Amino acid sequence: MDLHHWLGRATHAIQDWADTFGPYQAHPSLLVDDDRFAAAFGELAGRLKDNYPFFHPHYAGQMLKPPHPAAVVGYVTAMLINPNNHALDGGPATAAMEREAVAQLASMFGYDTHLGHLTTSGTIANLEALFVARELHPGRGVAYSEDAHYTHGRMCHVLGLKGHPVPTDDHGRMDLDALEDTLRTGEVGTVVVTTGTTGLGAVDPVHEVLPLAERHGVRVHVDAAYGGFFTLLAGADGPEALPAEPWRAIARCDSVVVDPHKHGLQPYGCGAVLFRDPEVGRFYLHDSPYTYFTSAELHLGEISLECSRAGASAAALWLTFQLLPPTPDGLGQILAAGRRAALKWADLIDASQYLELYQQPELDIVSYFPAVEPAALTGIDAASARILTDGMTSPDPIFLSTLRADHEAFTARHPQITADTDGARILRSVLMKPESEHHIEHLHIRIEHLARTR
Ligand SMILES: *Cc1c(COP(=O)(O)O)cnc(C)c1O
Repeated sequence: MDLHHWLGRATHAIQDWADTFGPYQAHPSLLVDDDRFAAAFGELAGRLKDNYPFFHPHYAGQMLKPPHPAAVVGYVTAMLINPNNHALDGGPATAAMEREAVAQLASMFGYDTHLGHLTTSGTIANLEALFVARELHPGRGVAYSEDAHYTHGRMCHVLGLKGHPVPTDDHGRMDLDALEDTLRTGEVGTVVVTTGTTGLGAVDPVHEVLPLAERHGVRVHVDAAYGGFFTLLAGADGPEALPAEPWRAIARCDSVVVDPHKHGLQPYGCGAVLFRDPEVGRFYLHDSPYTYFTSAELHLGEISLECSRAGASAAALWLTFQLLPPTPDGLGQILAAGRRAALKWADLIDASQYLELYQQPELDIVSYFPAVEPAALTGIDAASARILTDGMTSPDPIFLSTLRADHEAFTARHPQITADTDGARILRSVLMKPESEHHIEHLHIRIEHLARTR
């Protein structure tokens, strides 16, 4: 699809609709002169060059990539109307699209029943899940792994809840014995499991946490902000297949968060929270003197903490899902390519004398470090930082990211490395673009070269 063409179609489609309401003049206060606009636009385009090429396969750093053209066209088309998905009065069409897209997410996770909505981010989505956790178990805290996103500790603070960080094992997954010790205190009301940690893409054993939680009368919330769409690879055929158990177990958890603006091809401003029990909607009850006029039906604003929210986000996700639905044959194919890229690269790093794998990738995030002499953390830290910089500033640039590993986590995985300091930066590449699959050899050769030359 040609973005240029469809953006033109978007403006026409909305103009045709607008014309049915009769002509009127735009107010002179809004008019801008074409020459002045051209100058300002030129400056904007120039300033935007101060960016990293997130779209390019040689960018293998953070969790960043441009949205799919379908999402861009969906977003822009709806934005020309600018509906607000807070209330049906703010835009019935995009509110319906939000419900449909959220229902697709619910069936991806295997939820038979659900109450859910889009949010502006994974942070807000998790905040809502922890808010409901607090309402259901007042006075009890929240357990999450030490490798969980920092938002959980932070939001516990915001909500006045006690956070219980649980140690991780040498794969970066929540340690079940440590979790059980925490649950035995009786202080925990909800456990957060992460399916795809932000740093390493580690998947907590949801299927093993569930029976423990049940035994202790504790709820389970899944933070799948990053990894949620990998559910589509659970039990798949082929090398990209993921073990089915943790992903299938999400269907039995109390709530789940997923970020369509990470692996769902959307622009920023699109997270989602889903609750298995629709009854939790009662915790959101509020009256609004301003909204909810046009129908007695449930308005999205009545089940969310945020007020105004872009209806355009819902339109973008809905349109994307029409073409690339959250099914194994749709979006699943895109995640599969990134997963294969990670596996292929892990094999190359394993065979390399210049690079070492920090740990085997569980999803599409590869963690690795340069082999240095003597094999100690100080040298690894300095070499990782140097490769990051040299990569970006080289005439044939590559873009990576670093991740700080503390000395205990490091030596648990690599006992032969001397812990001469409290931690080290390692290299990290998130391979979330399917094109990565065809550029792994190049990236690997470039990084080996950078590791060799000093
Ligand atoms: C990205 C992420 C978050 C935070 O989501 P935002 O959309 O960045 O606010 C929370 N948890 C995990 C596991 C994440 O990867």
